Amino acid sequence: MNSLAAELSVPAPATAPKLIRERGQREVFCGLTGIVWLHRKIQDAFFLVVGSRTCAHLIQSAAGVMIFAEPRFATAIIEERDLAGLADLNAELDKAVAQVLEQRPDIKLLFLVGSCPSEVIKLDLSRAALRLGQKFSPAVRILAYSGSGIETTFTQGEDACLTALVPGLPQEPPHPARSLLVVGALPDVVEDQFRRLFDQLGIGPVHFLPARKAGDMPAVGPNASFLLAQPFLADTARALENRGATHIPAPFPLGAEGTTQWLAAAAKLWNVDKARFEMATVAGRERAQRALSRYRDRLVGKRIFFFPDSQLEVPLARFVSRELQMEPVEIGTPYLHQQHLAAELALLPPDALISEGQHVENQLDRCRAAAPDLVVCGLGLANPLEAEGLTTKWSIELLFTPVHGYDQAGDLAELFARPLLRKSLLVA
Ligand code: SF4
Repeated sequence: MNSLAAELSVPAPATAPKLIRERGQREVFCGLTGIVWLHRKIQDAFFLVVGSRTCAHLIQSAAGVMIFAEPRFATAIIEERDLAGLADLNAELDKAVAQVLEQRPDIKLLFLVGSCPSEVIKLDLSRAALRLGQKFSPAVRILAYSGSGIETTFTQGEDACLTALVPGLPQEPPHPARSLLVVGALPDVVEDQFRRLFDQLGIGPVHFLPARKAGDMPAVGPNASFLLAQPFLADTARALENRGATHIPAPFPLGAEGTTQWLAAAAKLWNVDKARFEMATVAGRERAQRALSRYRDRLVGKRIFFFPDSQLEVPLARFVSRELQMEPVEIGTPYLHQQHLAAELALLPPDALISEGQHVENQLDRCRAAAPDLVVCGLGLANPLEAEGLTTKWSIELLFTPVHGYDQAGDLAELFARPLLRKSLLVA
């Protein structure tokens, strides 16, 4: 182990966090929600949801928090009469795709996104994508994935989308240099910050998945090592490993500590020496610490309860407990990927309680009994809990706001501080 790795390695906790597993009613958004941030990221992609009017409303209201000149998503509505004959439905779908592509010649990548209705009637969107791909290739690539609420929580939509991209990624040329792949849709500003940091560390070439343009998707193969930027990309990671790439285990780049450890994991592989690592990261760490100190006094000792929603819950609990001295009462997560979260779990308070899956009634009972200062949950639970006097933060905001990296650490802390400040103003 080199000196940098020795310095930044995580000690094993004396006791492991307690884990309960629950199966019951869930209160989460479906994977269609991911379209809202994915369509901003891939600038020449279009997302055509094949679903009901409910799906169309969900996407429009989720996207309604932002303003777009020309949104690159739409819903092909499955009407009741369509349910009678799948043959007609395929013809309707072909017509809808042709219409979109005629109106939007700038589109180079089109995703057919499955929903609960398309899944229930067993509409085979992968076959439809193949059929339509043959018709519109090479000008437009057509892929399919499912964002159905039967199968996915809201961040899994991104996982399904990126997984669909992996088989079509170019193969590395023979004998390429080792490359780093950062996996997960990050806002462009955050991507640029990370690119500069990797440059200063001498780590490269660095590519991002997804790329900003359909034609710039990265090559993959046995010399690619990848860092996950998000904890909800289990299927994408598996698909990349099937293409020969290697996962670099690390905590996630949330907060100053998470960002440092995430960068250090890649630095270790590239044999970056300690002095160079220090020089490249010191300014960012100091900026992050200054920003965090503005919120720490307000948050220290506050008890926080996470309902399972985004799969960001474990890294967030690590961040708020270690960098803001908050106390996680329960850390709910829809799925606990033991391998991808190993470095995070080692940093949680040893007495932390993690709940995987959900039985919403039981969890609500535990939340009420614990009476936390702050509850992080989905929109569906936030209003009733506020009405009961609890203070809440919508977990979806953590996906719509740039939160990764040193320069966003303060913004991430502010997301937790703001509802408490609002509450104190209302009480005053
Ligand atoms: Fe509702 Fe399913 Fe459509 Fe999502 S995919 S909006 S859960 S019907």
